[in-house]
Amino acid sequence: MIVSYCKKCNLESSGAICQNCGKKASVNAVRDVWRTVRVPVADIGAWKNAGVVVLVTCVVLLAVLLTAERLMSTSASFAATSGSLIAAVILALLIGIALVFGLLALQGREEVRYSLNMEGACMQTWYRASRLRAWARLQHVDMGNTVAAADGVRYFMADERRMAWQDVNEIKYSPSTGTIRLYHTPHLAPFVLRLPPEEYDTAEAIVKKYTKRRA
Ligand SMILES: [Zn+2]
Repeated sequence: MIVSYCKKCNLESSGAICQNCGKKASVNAVRDVWRTVRVPVADIGAWKNAGVVVLVTCVVLLAVLLTAERLMSTSASFAATSGSLIAAVILALLIGIALVFGLLALQGREEVRYSLNMEGACMQTWYRASRLRAWARLQHVDMGNTVAAADGVRYFMADERRMAWQDVNEIKYSPSTGTIRLYHTPHLAPFVLRLPPEEYDTAEAIVKKYTKRRA
């Protein structure tokens, strides 16, 4: 959704024209904004990241335990104990998965607020402020540093990322999945804009407008 800010009226309007004085906003006062809701426990991306950590930990643990056992025991007793070691590591893996599920479920739902302006893209992740939710994200929550929404609910910003248009060197548009990926380094760690279907075309036009000479 295109919004613009009028300095004279100190007012934000939807569209590029001020609702109060009817003046057209200058280019740097216009932004494209939208929001999406994300539930970490239902997000494959969150599971992938956590899964890699759990799996690598278990494989390293198994390798260390088996090596230590090998060095300290005779081959007959090694054959006997390696089976129970593998069982212990599989148990650790299951506990790890249960822990990840618990933490992701406790994180609840979060809101991602996107904003595109003439300088670049900005993405902020917000969630309802609570100590439990902050703890589940392994974050410190300063309850004095929360922002109240219109309904009085207090929100906490978990993360803020920015990407300047001048740093974008490759772009992938996927209208079918509603995503636009901005790459600084081609193929690596994209800045992903996730869009509701009704917001996609506006965002694509803005990205193209500000990156047309490069990507
Ligand atoms: Zn105005």
